[in-house]
Amino acid sequence: MQTAPQTTDQDQPAVDMKDIVALCKRRGFIFGASDIYGGINGFWDYGPLGTELKNNLRDYWWKSMVTTPPIGPDGHPVQIVGLDSAIIQNPQVWVASGHVGGFSDPMVDCRETKKRYRADHLVILIPSDDTPWIATIEDDEDFLKARLKKVGRGKSLNDFTSKNLTEIDLAEYPKILAPDAKEKGTLTEPKEFNLLFETGIGASEADKTTAYLRGETAQGIFINFKNVVDSSRVKIPFGIAQVGKAFRNEVNPRNFIFRSREFEQMEMEWFCHPDEAQKWFSFWKDERKKFWESIGLTSDNILMRDHDADELVFYSQGTCDIEYKYPFTSPDFGELEGIANRGNYDLTQHQEHSKTKLEYLDPERNNEKYIPHVIEPAAGLTRGVLALLCEAYTPDPNRPSGVYLNFDPKMAPKKAAILPLTAKDGQPEIAEKLYLELREEFAVDLDIKQNIGKRYARQDEIGTPYCFTIDQQTSEDGMVTSRERNTMAQERVPLDKVADFLREKLK
Ligand code: ATP
Repeated sequence: MQTAPQTTDQDQPAVDMKDIVALCKRRGFIFGASDIYGGINGFWDYGPLGTELKNNLRDYWWKSMVTTPPIGPDGHPVQIVGLDSAIIQNPQVWVASGHVGGFSDPMVDCRETKKRYRADHLVILIPSDDTPWIATIEDDEDFLKARLKKVGRGKSLNDFTSKNLTEIDLAEYPKILAPDAKEKGTLTEPKEFNLLFETGIGASEADKTTAYLRGETAQGIFINFKNVVDSSRVKIPFGIAQVGKAFRNEVNPRNFIFRSREFEQMEMEWFCHPDEAQKWFSFWKDERKKFWESIGLTSDNILMRDHDADELVFYSQGTCDIEYKYPFTSPDFGELEGIANRGNYDLTQHQEHSKTKLEYLDPERNNEKYIPHVIEPAAGLTRGVLALLCEAYTPDPNRPSGVYLNFDPKMAPKKAAILPLTAKDGQPEIAEKLYLELREEFAVDLDIKQNIGKRYARQDEIGTPYCFTIDQQTSEDGMVTSRERNTMAQERVPLDKVADFLREKLK
């Protein structure tokens, strides 16, 4: 979470996350998983409306990526194909990707070089005086000598005692000069770097082998790069998109669905020629910002944050986070999507570990052979749902519900509700007829009983843009009363024009 210049929204009432969570439960958007058993930390169930909202966001993302992808810098639509890979893959996939560093060993990160080491692979040379303690890599004789020559201040190996990092007290870490680092004290404390959930494959305990639930959808795309190139008509530059569940054993799940242990991602890997990576990186940054704005996130609540050079992982040539001002981060922002220029790191890793060539033969560039570079817009679907809910939540003391959800109609779980004023006088029959007609084209709700005020309140709280009320007069004049969610303005509309009316309003 990052600090950003304070924006001037003092006049808007502060929204409390507690109220959003309560509405989500009350109206059937999101429930704590395993509620009746006392819950389970970091897991959530999506109720009837939460599922519709999530599907709307997912489908719109898919449309914007795969069905009608954007027009590229050359004036022609870019090419992106879809994929749905398995959640469980060969465990080697996660070794190659770096998610499993020798399975469950403690890892340390260097804050300066951004390199990650297995703690038990680092040997620390300890001098008798107060010169820095030198961290070197075990079993790498050449590295050890070179390091000593560079930072050993004329000392030889005999002038040091040595210990493994795992034997060294945390209090001594500030003295340690990490491999390749210029400053002392840049190693983090060792962490069990295994956010991956383990599972066992095989029916009997004896032949069970360990496998992992995927920690991101991206790796499924990289390992299918060759399959897609060989089986489709795609040519570089092109993208592969995937939406699906990802699992991370987060140490500290928090902030409602923001950081969960099971969540959904929408990721696209854009494969391009190395010389064009920077151009496409800028392109996708712009496109992704436009996407979130097009579904109702206001630009005041969105921050495009380019990572500083010292924040980048070592293979990344640029990363920009799209951050959203969630109520629990405000006035700061929290990550919604990351867009990264990953170079050819991932395909190179998989080529090395799988021993399968992942080079591309480029017919447009005289059959030049290269490992494509990758631009990755990686968004959280469930974090997107949270942003939509936070953005839509609008307290309004002037209506019975005291609040309404101001969803962009594209995202609203229900586009309209049909409400007969009373459950008699032929009104339910007219309502059902209208419902059967509209539901062919729109997600509509038919709600017959309860007083009308309560039914309006429900539709306000679930963010339905239009309500159509059938009353006594309807059977006489063939008109219904439409009520608009935000203004509560009412107007009479002919029954047989309701579909046209809705189509026009939702455009
Ligand atoms: P963070 O820094 O918040 O842990 P990340 O940088 O590790 O996120 P990525 O690996 O880039 O995240 O994943 C892409 C997207 O997946 C994120 O932008 C976020 O929207 C979503 N995401 C990642 N972790 C979680 C989680 N634990 N719960 C919900 N969404 C998540």
